Amino acid sequence: MVMSHEQEHPKKAFGWAARDSSGVLSPFRFSRRETGEKDVTFKVLYCGICHSDLHNVKNEHGSSTYPLVPGHEIVGEVTEIGSNVQKFKVGDKVGVGCLVGACQSCDSCTDHLENYCPKKIFTYGGAKYYDGSTTYGGYSDIMVADEHFIVRIPDNLPLDSAAPLLCAGITTYSP
Ligand SMILES: [Zn+2]
Ligand SMILES: [Zn+2]
Repeated sequence: MVMSHEQEHPKKAFGWAARDSSGVLSPFRFSRRETGEKDVTFKVLYCGICHSDLHNVKNEHGSSTYPLVPGHEIVGEVTEIGSNVQKFKVGDKVGVGCLVGACQSCDSCTDHLENYCPKKIFTYGGAKYYDGSTTYGGYSDIMVADEHFIVRIPDNLPLDSAAPLLCAGITTYSP
């Protein structure tokens, strides 16, 4: 096992990472931040494979940094919530798509168009979170994200089917 050389955070995590643009993923031990007051931590149960993951693994957009843990169609079950979380509780079924951060105060954010926010933070792929840590995607065992970027998965929707809705599904729905 190769350890991440980045600063250690409290939550031990395990995932599958690309180390270079070869397209090969290998086991990766890393860490995620502690559950902040607006954060939701969840156990990842399913994660879709989007073609953007393949582009990013192979650095076909030219912006990838390694090690890179792909996955932005992430579904799981809440294990911990921050003291100021309003919308979720432990045990809820939830998902995260391609964004985990935005300023939440610019015109785009105010219009619920965080994808146009100049300070948006992608779920993985070279992005740095506000605390300076690298973001890692859903090919991993746990996820921590601000509740603003978490969606609820209804009880009557199978979790495996829900995962690809978080990027591929919304992409076709949107137009
Ligand atoms: Zn913004
Ligand atoms: Zn995608």
